[in-house]
Amino acid sequence: MTKTHAPCGSLAGLLAALALDAVTDPRPAVVFALVGGATAGALLPDTDHHSSSPARMWGRATQIPCAWIGRLAGGHREWTHDVSRGAPLAFAAAFGACLVAPLLAAAAGAWHWLDVLSDGLGAVAIALVTGLALIGVDAWLSSLPTLGRRRLRIDTGTNAVVSWLTALAVVGTYPGGLPATVIAAIVVGVLIGVPAGIAGDACTLSGVPWRGRDRHLLPYGWRIRTGSAVEAAIRVPILIAVTVLAWVLAGHPGAEVLADLQAQ
Ligand SMILES: [Zn+2]
Repeated sequence: MTKTHAPCGSLAGLLAALALDAVTDPRPAVVFALVGGATAGALLPDTDHHSSSPARMWGRATQIPCAWIGRLAGGHREWTHDVSRGAPLAFAAAFGACLVAPLLAAAAGAWHWLDVLSDGLGAVAIALVTGLALIGVDAWLSSLPTLGRRRLRIDTGTNAVVSWLTALAVVGTYPGGLPATVIAAIVVGVLIGVPAGIAGDACTLSGVPWRGRDRHLLPYGWRIRTGSAVEAAIRVPILIAVTVLAWVLAGHPGAEVLADLQAQ
C-alpha cells in the first residue's frame, strides 16, 4: 500500500492546508511543514516492517531501526497501525519532542554536549520527515506516463542526500530550533497523516487492529488486495486530486499565462 499511503497523506495534508489558508494566511514554510508532515505520517505505520518503503528509504540505515520498531511493536500491522492504542499520538509526540529539543536546550543554555545532542535529534526528525515526504514525491513521479524509456525516480542515494542536505540547511538557518509554528505544523501533519495511512490499510483484506480485533472500513467482498490492479486504479483519482489541490494552494501558477494565451 506504500504507493497509495503517501498520496493519501498528501491529500489529507493539502485539505488541512487549504482549510488553514481559508482562515489565515499561513507562511509557505508552515504549508510545506503541514503537507510534508502528513505525507510522512501516512508512511510511519509501515516503519514496523523491514522491507516496507520507509524501511528501504536510506538502505540499511533505515532498515535496521525499522526491524527494531517491528519487534517492539509486536509485529507488522500491530501497535503502529492501532489508533485505539494511540499510534498517531505516539508518532506525533516523538517527532514533536525531537523538534522541540533544540528550542529547550537553547532556552536553558544547556551544556555543550546536550546542546549538540538536541540539535542532532532535531536534524534527524527534519531529515526523516523530508525523506518520507520524498517517497510521496516519488510515488507521484512513478505514476506519470513514462518519458521515453526512463522513469523519473528518487532512488535511495538521492533521497538520503537531499533529506540530509535539507536537514543541515534548516538547522543552519534556525540554529536555536525551528519556529514554533513550523514545529506545530509538522506535528499536526503527522497527527493527520498517520490515521490516513492506517485508513488505507483498513480498506485491505487483512484490516488493522482496533481494541484487540482486526477491523475493516469496507464490507466483505469490497476489500482491496494490496498491490492489486484495484489499488492502482484507486490511486489515480487520489493523485489527480493531490495535483489539483497543490496547484490551487500554490495560487494557481500558470493561470495568468493561460488567461493571457486565451486573450490573444
Ligand atoms: Zn500499510
